[in-house]
Amino acid sequence: MSELRWHPLLEEWVAVAAHRQVRPIALGGKADTTAACPFCPGGAEGLTMDFEFLTLDNRFPSFQRGGPLSGPVGGAELGRRARSGGACEVVLYSKRHDTTLAQASREQVYRLVKVWTDRYRELAERPDVKYVYIFENKGAAVGVTLTHPHGQIYAFPFIPPRVRTELAAERRYRTRHRRCLLCDLVKGEIAGRSRIVTLSRSFISYIPFFARYPYEVHIASRRHLGHLGQMTEAEQWDLAGTLRTILRKYDRLWGISMPYIMLMHQTPTDGGRHPSHHFHIEFYPPHRTRDKIKFLAGCEAGAGTFINDTIPEAKAAELRRAGS
Ligand SMILES: [Zn+2]
Ligand SMILES: [Zn+2]
Ligand SMILES: [Zn+2]
Repeated sequence: MSELRWHPLLEEWVAVAAHRQVRPIALGGKADTTAACPFCPGGAEGLTMDFEFLTLDNRFPSFQRGGPLSGPVGGAELGRRARSGGACEVVLYSKRHDTTLAQASREQVYRLVKVWTDRYRELAERPDVKYVYIFENKGAAVGVTLTHPHGQIYAFPFIPPRVRTELAAERRYRTRHRRCLLCDLVKGEIAGRSRIVTLSRSFISYIPFFARYPYEVHIASRRHLGHLGQMTEAEQWDLAGTLRTILRKYDRLWGISMPYIMLMHQTPTDGGRHPSHHFHIEFYPPHRTRDKIKFLAGCEAGAGTFINDTIPEAKAAELRRAGS
């Protein structure tokens, strides 16, 4: 079963995917690495060929086309449901189990950027896909059940609510000022300098003024563009360099393989025009310190207000120093 149920209080969809309960668990540690891993040679995915990056259908998708529903489509206002649609894919970063994206060369990250671009373009063509969401969950601290290095792509059958909120804010800002919100924000960060982590020809990475997590880094293009497919080769090469630098800084900060959620906000693929949208990547590492995790608790989960007990300017300075 994979269906959408309407949350009338939040006015957003919840994806009900009960089959995900049986998805494989292969947590790290030496003993269980290759034996239990579906992506290693001999594993459940049956991967025997050599590859650098590989895109697979997620066997336990949250979104999929045409699955059976547990009841009739539609329904009353307080019991609305819909067929899911969309798709879920897994992008393997390596054939090797015991590595991470941070250990990849810049050339390898560049080729991954190319893979993401191809997937974005192809999924965007599908009429049931309104939003292509590329992300990575890394580390047990963010609930990862498979440690083989991989990212994911959710091709949403709707524009998800966080993205809708951002798009609406970008649109309103553009109406008020006749300029792009993120272009202005990036200019401000470059002028102020205190929250910059890296600055290159085409990309800036910084901890925003309004960061919700202590080490929340954002990467934005300096040129106004909406998605990977609009970047030049030089910009994609530059993005690969910025990404790799951030990942390595995270690992060098405390000498641990830093857990994080990495996500990309790109132009929706719903057929509409979104000229005010500006490409960016966001990182949410759950660590507050080397040994302390920031959990999403009462205030964040129930009230939607984040409490960040650190100063973004100080955290940006830490990351600037890390590994340099
Ligand atoms: Zn593996
Ligand atoms: Zn812009
Ligand atoms: Zn965003």
